[in-house]
Amino acid sequence: MVTARVPEQQVKIGPTRLLINNEWVESVSDRRFETINPTTGEVICDVAEADAPDVEKAVQAARAAFSRGEWTKLSATRRGELLYKLADLIEQNIDELARLETLDNGKPLQDSLGDLGLVIGCYRYYAGWADKVQGKTIPINGPYFCYTRHEPVGVVGQIIPWNFPLLMQAWKLAPALATGNTVVMKTAEQTPLSALRVGELIVEAGFPPGVVNILSGYGPTAGAAIARHMDIDKVAFTGSTEVGHLIMEAAAKSNLKRVTLELGGKSPNIVFADADMDAAIAGSHDALFFNQGQCCCAGSRVFVEEKCYDEFVAKSVEQAKQRIVGNPFDESTEQGPQVDKDQFDRVMGYIESGMREGAQMLCGGSRVGDKGFFIAPTVFADVRDEMKIAQEEIFGPVMSIIKFKDIDEVIQRANTTMYGLAAAVWTQDISKAHAIAHNVRAGTVWVNCYDVFDAAAPFGGFKQSGIGRELGEYGLQQYTEVKTVTIKL
Ligand code: NAP
Ligand code: MG
Repeated sequence: MVTARVPEQQVKIGPTRLLINNEWVESVSDRRFETINPTTGEVICDVAEADAPDVEKAVQAARAAFSRGEWTKLSATRRGELLYKLADLIEQNIDELARLETLDNGKPLQDSLGDLGLVIGCYRYYAGWADKVQGKTIPINGPYFCYTRHEPVGVVGQIIPWNFPLLMQAWKLAPALATGNTVVMKTAEQTPLSALRVGELIVEAGFPPGVVNILSGYGPTAGAAIARHMDIDKVAFTGSTEVGHLIMEAAAKSNLKRVTLELGGKSPNIVFADADMDAAIAGSHDALFFNQGQCCCAGSRVFVEEKCYDEFVAKSVEQAKQRIVGNPFDESTEQGPQVDKDQFDRVMGYIESGMREGAQMLCGGSRVGDKGFFIAPTVFADVRDEMKIAQEEIFGPVMSIIKFKDIDEVIQRANTTMYGLAAAVWTQDISKAHAIAHNVRAGTVWVNCYDVFDAAAPFGGFKQSGIGRELGEYGLQQYTEVKTVTIKL
């Protein structure tokens, strides 16, 4: 077993080949690529690199599994049992998986463990749904008996990002499998390892060959081959809005496969002066800095009412300065490195742009340490709506605080964005809370809280933040086709 040394830790690596038809195989080209430990910048190991021919093999395996019917026509209860079994196996290996996630992604170990709680919850939630997906009987006119069946879409391509590797794998696999689809999944090039280890647990749980195929590889090669494949019935993608456009275009140009997208955001986090100010400050801090700021729903436009602006800014800067940045394996660490050098450079570029455009940088702004990809928690005040840091997704530990006067104005400004993923409001006034919740165009609105996730609560975007919803009962609809059956009586 390959292991990697990180300060005072041994981490078990698990499989590094492709999972196709329940077998671990090298890629057709025999090429491999390196995955990097973002804490040190050093290579952890290399993994097999999938490209179009490997996608082809995986699709054939998934199609064969779908057509054989041993999965699709397996009793729904049995599908649920397998998902429960997978959840149990993940739980039994939770420490190992958390350490692997932290090694490859850089997120603090405590956060990896937190993610895993949600991962296990997600598999169990959809395990419970497996035998509860049902159609309707419909009283149509005439001597007919009409009913609907909710059938699996078929072979599903799933492309996931690096910011929550295990959780994004769960959000995609669990509903697809509960409803009887077979899957070809491509993980992000930065973080292939934990998903492969889950692949091993999928085989151990007893899922039939070809039901889940997991490919490590690059977006423009393996990812694009999934998006344009003629025998993939649906593609589910999470990542940047830019690539979301490419996925949809590829689907349109190939076989009109179903497309669901979970994309970027620039979520408004609105703080009124009547809020519990300590809760609002702490909550806004977490809303932005959690996961090194690498969250699609990060509260990255912090709108603060004029009357409490100075207090909010001063205390937010204090809190950011106290954030503990360092080795993600240390228990006290709150912030690890950015996932890779590209993301590090990108975030530093946004910090420079904020300074250039005249925002006030009140703390942070620099690299931490001399290796790895650490960035000091950064707070900008006096940010204006038209600045780049107020418009584009930074995906890093950079808070932008923006002043507002009244509720109508802040609703209008909050909505002036191409995104619509999430929003939050901090207030003790129930009318203001509802006004924000109803008028801000976003898929999720949190009131006096942030980042509250549950497998039962749907998540997804308005506008260019996405198409469709993941999680909850709504998430099932994205993985089923409705068939209408009409019988003459
Ligand atoms: P990305 O390119 O959108 O990556 C997401 C996934 O899409 C990865 O698996 C990626 O493969 C794949 N991909 C890339 N190009 C593709 C293509 N042409 N066809 C099919 N699949 C493709 O995002 P990124 O480059 O990692 O990050 C850039 C920015 O995207 C971030 O700074 C952030 O703003 C945003 N982002 C958002 C989320 C989110 O949760 N909504 C997650 C990650 C990033 P590779 O592994 O080869 O890249
Ligand atoms: Mg890595």
